Amino acid sequence: MEAISDLVARLNAQAADQSALERLQALRAALPGPIVFTTSFGVEDQAITHLIATAGLDISFATLDTGRLFPQTYDLWAQTEACYGIKVRPFFPQAEAVEAMTTAQGVNGFYDSVDARKTCCNVRKLEPLARALSGAQGWVTGLRADQSDHRQGLAFVSYDEVRGLVKLNPIFDWTRDDAAAFTAANDVPVNTLHAQGILSIGCAPCTRAIAPGEPERAGRWWWEDEAKKECGLHVGPDGRLTRTGAPT
Ligand code: SF4
Repeated sequence: MEAISDLVARLNAQAADQSALERLQALRAALPGPIVFTTSFGVEDQAITHLIATAGLDISFATLDTGRLFPQTYDLWAQTEACYGIKVRPFFPQAEAVEAMTTAQGVNGFYDSVDARKTCCNVRKLEPLARALSGAQGWVTGLRADQSDHRQGLAFVSYDEVRGLVKLNPIFDWTRDDAAAFTAANDVPVNTLHAQGILSIGCAPCTRAIAPGEPERAGRWWWEDEAKKECGLHVGPDGRLTRTGAPT
């Protein structure tokens, strides 16, 4: 049996010359167990949903419903399921944890400090993500290298030692324009918020539109120091957080 490090190295080497669909197919062929695609319904994720669904790949769809998403995101969720005949399984935060957090730091306490914001991301995203990926061997995400400086250091394929699974970013080398062109050319439904200048869409209270020329992720947690923008969803091979925003 191929060692996991060899498998990751092989998939990574192949990925450089493959299309996004071929990368997804290669991951599916390489792993016998469940593979989960976590979507937040951004334009990148919609492109990947289209690829998985139209190719009929055995990869399940999951999303983290934090309870603070935009109404437009819920509309797109329903539209996407209807369009592709798929089900996107939601993972909600634990009710007791949300109740305790809200009591302790207030309903919008995430604006008050980085610690309070991280507590909220832990309760509403990280704990549900752990359940979404429980039992999976593979994890597909819509990360792109050019979304932020921090993401440049990632790869097509990596082994997430903390979660014990192989992680694939099939459109890692796409630009945002690539994703937009792909969805337009293939009539893929996209979030109406993108047309309002919100490029990176997460929870409603933590997302704002950006001005022309601003970095794509400037609209996330904009009140915080740039260096502290991380939500913990993406962990590097060394177990450390990769300095990213959230894909949700
Ligand atoms: S993005 Fe904002 S509302 Fe969503 S989980 Fe994080 S802190 Fe909470």
